[in-house]
Amino acid sequence: MENCIFCKIVRGEIPSKKVYEDEDMIIIKDLNPQAETHLLLIPKEHYADIIEMSDAEAATLGKCLKKLSRLVDELGLSEGFRLVSNKGKHGCQSVPHLHIHILGGEQLNDKMC
Ligand code: 5GP
Ligand code: ZN
Repeated sequence: MENCIFCKIVRGEIPSKKVYEDEDMIIIKDLNPQAETHLLLIPKEHYADIIEMSDAEAATLGKCLKKLSRLVDELGLSEGFRLVSNKGKHGCQSVPHLHIHILGGEQLNDKMC
């Protein structure tokens, strides 16, 4: 997608602090962190959200989440973390390219938000 911020980050046209990359995804530091550790898992393929994604994209996303489970130590998340994916207006999604927020690095509030 030509003008999508996260596609531009994936293509390297906008700089980001990348902590991991493979053929399916990048993991970057969020520009405006809401926790001690706030990362964004961004699939390289462009689709807006889980409602829009195809079966193939869902399978790739599952693969990405499985890989995340192997990265927790090096990302400093061994004590636990929270995954959040905002969708649409009520979910306050601001970037319409599916991404998973990874929050941790400290004790999070027991409320969801
Ligand atoms: P959303 O509101 O769509 O769930 O999350 C979008 C996230 O992307 C926000 O937490 C915001 O701080 C982050 N973000 C927006 N633009 C950029 C950017 O150019 N670089 C990085 N690293 N994060 C961004
Ligand atoms: Zn995109």
